[in-house]
Formats: sequence, C-alpha cells, structure tokens
Amino acid sequence: MEKESAVLLIFTGGTISMSEDPTTGALRPIDFDRLQEYMPELKQTGIRIKSVPFLPLIDSSDVYPPVWERIALLIQENFEEYDGFIVLHGTDTMAYTASALSFMLENLSKPVIFTGAQLPIGMMRSDAKENLLTAIEIATSKENGQPIVPEVCIFFEDNLFRGNRTTKKNAEHFSAFNSYNYPPLAKAGVHIKFFRSYIHYPASGTALRVRTKIDQNVAILKLFPGITEHTVNAILNIPGLKAVVLESFGAGNAPRKSWFFDALKNATDRGILIVNKTQCSTGSVEMGRYETSLNLMSAGVMSAFDCTTEAIVTKLMYLLGEYTNPDDIKHRLSISLCGEMTVI
Ligand code: ASP
Repeated sequence: MEKESAVLLIFTGGTISMSEDPTTGALRPIDFDRLQEYMPELKQTGIRIKSVPFLPLIDSSDVYPPVWERIALLIQENFEEYDGFIVLHGTDTMAYTASALSFMLENLSKPVIFTGAQLPIGMMRSDAKENLLTAIEIATSKENGQPIVPEVCIFFEDNLFRGNRTTKKNAEHFSAFNSYNYPPLAKAGVHIKFFRSYIHYPASGTALRVRTKIDQNVAILKLFPGITEHTVNAILNIPGLKAVVLESFGAGNAPRKSWFFDALKNATDRGILIVNKTQCSTGSVEMGRYETSLNLMSAGVMSAFDCTTEAIVTKLMYLLGEYTNPDDIKHRLSISLCGEMTVI
C-alpha cells in the first residue's frame, strides 16, 4: 500500500485568517481554530495535514527576519516527516519571506509553497479555499517518487511562481502576484500543468542546510528626478549601513552629476555594497549600455541584473549574515544562487 502523503501547514496569518473588527471595521487576525471550521475540505483530501499556527496570527506587515528564521527552523525540524510544506502568509510581504527562505533553505529537495488570500476565508467569495487546496496538491505532487517542484514557490489564483522571482502586483484582484522576469513553474486549471524545464532541481545527494543568520543593515535608495544630494548622503551615511539597493532608471541608469558619483564612490570606498536594481518590473540592468550607467561602474556599483527588489534585499541580508569576507559576498552577489536572477 502506498504511504499516505503528509503536509506541514505553517500558519503565520494574513487576510486568509482575518475577520472584521465589529467596532472599527478593520480586518484583523482571528483564532486559528475558527479557520479550520471554515475548511472541512481539509479532512477530505486524503492527505495527512498537520498545522502549526504562529500565535498570535499576524498581518504580514509585521513579519520580520525572526519570523523567517522560525519558518526555516520548523521546516528543518520536520523535513524528514513531511512530503511538502505550506506557508500561509499575508500577501503584502509574502514575496520577501519566500525570497528570504529560498536563500535560507540551501539544497532544498521538497516543495515549500507559500499561499494566502485576498479575501478572508469566512467570506462567500473568498479565494482562500482554492488557493490552499491547490497548494496542498502541488506540495504533494510526485513523479517516480520524487517531488515535482522542490523549490520555495508562491501559488496564487492559478499560477505557481518561483518565490524569489515574485512580486505583489495587485491589492485588489485575486491574481495578486506576478513573476515578471521568469515563467510560471506551473499553471492550475482543470489539471495542474507543470513546466519542468523551468523548475530547479538540487544536485542529488546534497542534504538540506538551513542558514539563519540575517543582517538587517541594508537600505533601498530609490532615485527620482530632482533627488537631492542631502537625501542621497543621508541614506549612504546611515550608521552601521552595509549594503544599499540603488533603484535606478530603465536599464540601470542614474544622474551623471559629480556629487552623485562622489557620494557613491565614497560609500563603496568605505566598504558599503551598492547594487543596481532597475525600477522597471520587467527587464534587466545593463550597466555600460548608456553613458548614464558607466559612472556607476567606476563608482564600484554592482548589478542586480533582473532580480526583484524583494530578492536582492533578502539576498544581501542573507549574504551579510552568513559571510564575512567581502570578496565571498561579492562573488555570490554576481551569480545566481537559487534561480533568483539571470546573469547577462
Ligand atoms: N495585510 C494583509 C497581509 O499581508 C494582506 C493579505 O494577506 O492579503 O497580512
């Protein structure tokens, strides 16, 4: 007889678990037990599901690196016992948590599927049930006894995306996420269709290694026409700062003003890593394509290629936490560690 499939459901909170506060009308997390009442289908899946609620359940705006660490350690402790892992999480920062986990769970060989909902589970038109039931099916899908998607992913509406390629794109529609620079790993319609050539498989025989050191001394500097020297310097001189994501224009361009170059050069000379990420959702940074990015190269700025902001911020936090040698960090920044970018 085939062994029954088993899934660990890690429940952090989010809209999926919320109801309206009768006094203020604002959405806030409800009790975990009530959530199970709303989903009797969970018992009918034929899959052993154990849930671990992080009490109190939280809105994902309150998720921060210690929550990432808790999720990573829970997966590590239960890795052998389950076929796959589901993380129920608010949509607002889901792409950050999924990106962080993709770096923290090295050599992952089982599915870790993030999902949530745009409408609370108790509401008639909620997307919660479909998202969760399909995520469970994906987390237990196997071929020749091997998991089909051994990656950290986000499943929402009908798309399965690689977590570290995903961005929340819509605060209103059920299709809340997109992966602008990488195709979906699966599409769920009447059948779930997996696109295997896009799925990353770990080298065989490698064991899961969980990395939990995170360094939060990272900032984002988003350029806009008219940004002042004062603003740029204020960010680049934050005490303890170790890395900056420079959100640039188009293919990675920035003003050619000499004060701007001096501010960046001064920061990289002080050992601060500056990584160039385009403000465009689709496409890649190509430093040197325009004159307006040549300067950035001479100031020691590195490229984030086609990474999402979520992926590059969490990659920096992970690298700064786990490595001390600047050359090791720079080398790992320039390559794709788990499919988070396409190096050109
Ligand atoms: N504010 C909620 C959260 O991110 C939104 C959601 O879950 O969709 O926790």
